[in-house]
Parts: sequence; structure tokens; C-alpha cells
Amino acid sequence: MQFLKNSLIELITQTSTNLPPDVRNAMSGVLETEPSGTQASHALSIIASNIDMAQEDEQPICQDTGMPTFDVHTPVGVNQIHLKKAIREAVAEATKMGKLRPNSVDSITGKNTGDNLGIETPVIHFEQWEQDEIEIKLILKGGGCENKNIQYSLPAELEHVGYVGRNLEGVRKCILHSVWQAQGQGCAPGAVGVCIGSDRAHGYVLAKNQLFRTLEDVNPDPVLAKLEAEVMEEANRIGVGPMGFGGQSSLIGCKVMAANRLPASFFVSVAYDCWAFRRLGVRLDAKSGAITRWLYRDPETPVQKMAKGEGFPLSGREVILTPPLTEQQMRSLTVGDIVLIRGDVYTGRDAVHAHLMKNPPPVDLNGQILYHCGPVMLKQGNEWVVKAAGPTTSSREEPYQAYVLKNYGVRAVIGKGGMGAKTLAALEDFGAVYLHGIGGAAQFYARSMKKVVGVNWMEFGIPEAMWQIRVEDFAAIVTMDAHGNSLHARVEEETGDKLEEVLA
Ligand code: SF4
Repeated sequence: MQFLKNSLIELITQTSTNLPPDVRNAMSGVLETEPSGTQASHALSIIASNIDMAQEDEQPICQDTGMPTFDVHTPVGVNQIHLKKAIREAVAEATKMGKLRPNSVDSITGKNTGDNLGIETPVIHFEQWEQDEIEIKLILKGGGCENKNIQYSLPAELEHVGYVGRNLEGVRKCILHSVWQAQGQGCAPGAVGVCIGSDRAHGYVLAKNQLFRTLEDVNPDPVLAKLEAEVMEEANRIGVGPMGFGGQSSLIGCKVMAANRLPASFFVSVAYDCWAFRRLGVRLDAKSGAITRWLYRDPETPVQKMAKGEGFPLSGREVILTPPLTEQQMRSLTVGDIVLIRGDVYTGRDAVHAHLMKNPPPVDLNGQILYHCGPVMLKQGNEWVVKAAGPTTSSREEPYQAYVLKNYGVRAVIGKGGMGAKTLAALEDFGAVYLHGIGGAAQFYARSMKKVVGVNWMEFGIPEAMWQIRVEDFAAIVTMDAHGNSLHARVEEETGDKLEEVLA
């Protein structure tokens, strides 16, 4: 198996950097749907540029490369222990190359292993089959969308849906509810893999497996094919829109399977994946480990470019923000304003926020901008270089954000998916704003980052450390302002009403 490790590294690299053609096709369709000048169309322009940049530079499409999950089929006689070892080595190597972010953390101590290896990581599912070649499929699904997976135990009562019974009608209601509850936090437009039945644990595995189907295929079961088509049409009427900004495109795929269940249980398990739907596969020669063919993509066919124009069409009305920022400046901004940041931003996500509740910041944060981001960084010589750096889901910082704003003088927070009522009240009291970056646009934002000025709290690991990064024209949209307005609260309410209408 002399080619095995290189084949696996190539699979990981392509999966992380090059969206498959079916996802490109779906996103091309979405690009046509949102009227120009809307926040949704701004988000899509950035997403399209980002997809192109990632492929051109062979860098991660999104900085969150998720929990690498391999689905492996082997001929009888292939040594699976050997294969598992090779997969682990390739994952560690791809992490060192910056194609994967070091994402594996000890669940008790919080320590990052640094190489994506750890107890039960990466995830590898083996199955034997009666073919001569090895097949390996890989999905990279980040934490933002993973956190929006949801499992329903029927019968149930759901918000905006009401009673949900143990039948196909109930399943349809659950799937539509799953799209609604994801809002922008899973980086819509997304795709859902669904399992009807099974038990709690296996139902989620089977739901995720549905994401290995191409977005374009048609379910061989006519009943499920009809359900998938109905959900696609109805989910896109709810109005969540790209990034949860509101709009006509919320879902790019719905893939459903039914498994047998216990008479006492009726689960509907939903795996929600984001627009950065990274999934590829290879067939390998079982003797040499060489790639004999790719699944989902034809390397001979030129890659379809996504961007129609420049990434973020500037109107000249953008507000330039140069930290340190003042209360007065922040109070002059309102929801919908587009800002361009020039100066330094400080990254901070879960570990930084939890630490700041009990410890002062290592730098003066008065008037500064905190960026919810866990970047991919590589050290080249003595310099740290940003390899991928889009925003992470902000709602995880909701328990801490008000305290951090008020106690350390932070004037703006950049993230994605929006934040809750406590943060909104703190923004109003203190005079600060929430700025929405485009989730998954890791290459687009990395290009606006000119220098890594410094880093603190490296003991939290690369994604969780506090990085000071100099940016130039970092584009973001005000979605929560200092006057009590939240685009996210508005869209959630409006889409809840639409969900009721769709189901009426
Ligand atoms: S696109 Fe959004 S949800 Fe998907 S992995 Fe990236 S940050 Fe997470």
C-alpha cells in the first residue's frame, strides 16, 4: 500500500478546499435567487468568492473543518487495522499542512491534542463489501451546523408547529422545524440528512450518512422522494435565507431514509449541514492504495467558478471603523449598516470568554473589537500566518458577552448567527454593536488579514487562543445595534409566522 497515505492526504485536502460539483450547482442556483443589494445577496457574493479562493489557493473553505468522519468499505481480506493507522497518520499530516484545523479537544481537560487525533477522533466507520477496491468517503462538518442537529421523539408539541404525530406528516413537520430552528447559526442555506426511526444513537449516524448522497439524486423510494421534494419547496418559503438574514434560499438539499424502529419509539433524527458542504470520496486500488477514481467529482472536468463579480460590491456608503472605537461612533450605527474595519481585531471564543469571566484580559480591550473566530494558523519561520479565519457561531458566548462588553470596554463584537436578549440589552446600555461576518468565508476574510500582531493564551490551543490580527477593509454588517434592534430576533419571529403559514 505504498500510495495509501498520499491518497488519503489528497482526499482530505480536496475535501477541505474544493466543494464538490453538486454543491456548486446548488449554490449557483441560490446565487440567482436573492435580489441584489439585500443582505442575503451580499452574503452570497462573499460565499461565492470564498469558494473560488479556497480552490485556487488550496486552502480550507471554512476554518472549521469539523470532526473528520470517514466512511470506509473494504474488500474481504483488507487489513482494517492498517487502514485505520494510515487514516490517522494522514489526518495528522493534513493538520500540520493547515488543511485541517486542530479540532480535537480532551473533553475533560479541554486540552487540544494539536493534530486532530484523540479518543474516537477521527471518526471512522468500516464495512466490508464484495468488491475488489477500497472506497473511502469523507465528510467535514463544522461545529456550527453540528450544533444544529436535532432529534425529535414523536409524538411531540413543537414551537410554531403544534402537535406532531407518528406519521409522514409528522416527519415533514419535524424537518421543516429543523430548518427553522437552525436560523443562521448553521450557516444557511444548508442541507439536511434525515433518518426516520432507528434508535437514538444509530438514528443520528444514519441521518449523517444521508449527507453522502449527492444533492441531485432522487430517492429510489417514491414516498420519500415526494417528501424530499415537498420539504425543499416548503423550507424555502419559510424565509430564513442565507446566514439567517432573511431571504428565499434556506435549504439546498433534503435527503431522507427510513429505518426500522422499536414499537415504543419514533425518532426523527436530523443532521444539518451548512452551505460549506464538504464531502468527497475515492476508490483505491486494494494492493497499492493508489486512487483509481474520485467520487462526486471528475478531476478532468474544469472546476465551475462561482463568483460573478467582486466579492463584496461596495456602494461607497460603507462606514469605516478604525479602533479604538468610541461610544458615540457605535451609537451612530444601525442595523443594516455595512462597515469596513481597518486596524486590529482580537479573536476570542469559548475558552477566552470563559476565562475572561474570572481573569482580566491580557491586553487593554477598551474600544476594541472582539472577533468570534477560531482561525487556522501556521507558523512560517518566526511568523504566524493566517490560513483561514471566518467567524464562528456567536450564540455560544451569550452567557459571557454582556459581562465582557461592560467590564472590559469592548465596543464591537464580530461573529455569525447573532446573539440573544442579554447581549442585545448590554449593547444598548453600554453603546456597542454586533457585527455579522459571513459564516464559512474563511478565505475571503483571511485575505483581509495583513499581519498577526501577537497572540495570548496559546495554552488554550490555536483555535481558542486570543490572536491580535491587523485587518484591512474587513467587511461586516451591523445586525444588532445600540438601539435595541436585532435583525436576528426579527427574522426568527417572521420565519416562525411563515412556518405556521406553510403548515396551515
Ligand atoms: S460554514 Fe459555518 S457552520 Fe459550516 S463549518 Fe463553517 S462556520 Fe461552521
